[in-house]
Amino acid sequence: MSSASAPRAHPLHVHPPRSPLRFGVRAISGRFNRARWWAVGLTQLPFFGLCWLQWNGQPLVGFDFLRQKIHLFGSLFGPQDLLLLTLLLIGGALALFVTSAVGGRIFCGFSCPQSVYTALFLWIEQKVQGTPGQRQRRQAQGAQAAVWSRRLLTWALWAIVSLALGWTLTAYFSSAPGLWQRTWQGTLGPVESTLILGYAAFAFAQAGFLREKVCQHMCPYARFQGVMGTPHTQSVMYDAPRGEPRRAATGAAHRASPAAAKTQGDCVDCNLCVEVCPAGIDIRNGLQYECISCGLCIDACDRVMHKSRRPPGLIRFASQEGADWRDTLRQPRIKVYTALLALTLLGVATTMALRVPLQVEVVRDRGVMARQLRNGDVENIYRVHIQNYDTRAHAYDIRVNSSAALYIPSLEPVRIGSGEERTLAVSVVQPYRADAHAPAQPIIPLTFVVRALSDTEQQRSRSSSFLLPR
Ligand code: SF4
Ligand code: SF4
Repeated sequence: MSSASAPRAHPLHVHPPRSPLRFGVRAISGRFNRARWWAVGLTQLPFFGLCWLQWNGQPLVGFDFLRQKIHLFGSLFGPQDLLLLTLLLIGGALALFVTSAVGGRIFCGFSCPQSVYTALFLWIEQKVQGTPGQRQRRQAQGAQAAVWSRRLLTWALWAIVSLALGWTLTAYFSSAPGLWQRTWQGTLGPVESTLILGYAAFAFAQAGFLREKVCQHMCPYARFQGVMGTPHTQSVMYDAPRGEPRRAATGAAHRASPAAAKTQGDCVDCNLCVEVCPAGIDIRNGLQYECISCGLCIDACDRVMHKSRRPPGLIRFASQEGADWRDTLRQPRIKVYTALLALTLLGVATTMALRVPLQVEVVRDRGVMARQLRNGDVENIYRVHIQNYDTRAHAYDIRVNSSAALYIPSLEPVRIGSGEERTLAVSVVQPYRADAHAPAQPIIPLTFVVRALSDTEQQRSRSSSFLLPR
């Protein structure tokens, strides 16, 4: 057969269908791919950078669970901030509800660490091993040495990225500069080593090998995401009335008569949308829970439509009801979610505004009940526990308020550093009165007031009682 008569490849033909999981997912450029890489940058740059930043000598973001402290952007939180933490968790859940009701699983496609790490690992794989087609050819040619050397290099690079992820996560619990020093000195503790290696192994397995199986079988969000959506939710969809019946990608249909071409849909059955799909699904089979709304099949199909001089959007974000984005945003469910989210954020703002970064506990000293002193005064001893949750040190003044003439003899203001706490034995005295009769009620209510001298807004009161000897 002469070269002139040999069948020419169709310009839109890519490859015969094959499992994208066998030789990897095919890379594609386009607006959604760009958006994905922006998401990788916007999530990973803060992740790798924030653990190094300090504020007033304290970590900008850090979790010191042993000492029950959380540093967040210049504020210090402790167990007493449970309400705030609860509100933040509720706010995060509501934000996820709104996102899911508007755009399906776009959180999964663009922000979820599993998707972000998988995108990074896939990029390394493509750079080292080439495209799925190149990998398939290498395998078919039996070039085992080349296959295995590239595979081992890929795994080595994945391991480096995984260790960097594990180390950075650990730095949020253990202070990055100190952890860096201990890493180079080889003096990491068992907890730090376990966390670094554990998270590295987790990331290596999840993003390197399990990939879409995590989203399909392990992630609970995929299961209940469906109940958060509505028929107006924007999801990635194939326009079947426009695409069907499919044209053959071999070119025969392309050269068909204009009359025949009119009866054919716009899909050329090139399978590119399946080859680029990180979830390994064919979106032309309809909406599927495995779809993470990453939009890569849209990039792929738009490219094919451009080559075939058809309008883009054969695969696009659309709703089952044909609603546009504005209609979707007007849905009652989304209004309710948004109102609840706004209320929660208002609650967070109010709690933050009213928050006093000072915690005080007062307990009576069990070993010393009411005691009569030599001069006739009556003394009670209390244990006053003060925790400074401010980002600077304070000197605290301790007083007692009572209807009786109770006072604290000779107690200097106590200085407590940021994030530190102290327990003081505090003596409270009732002066002796020669004219006093035996009390009818041997218990006098009193209130301890602890106040920061440099910031009178920082004040806490705790009720207790003063016992008189019978
Ligand atoms: S939907 Fe688009 S990308 Fe997918 S097979 Fe058809 S033409 Fe190709
Ligand atoms: S079907 Fe499209 S949007 Fe859904 S996961 Fe696959 S490539 Fe992403």
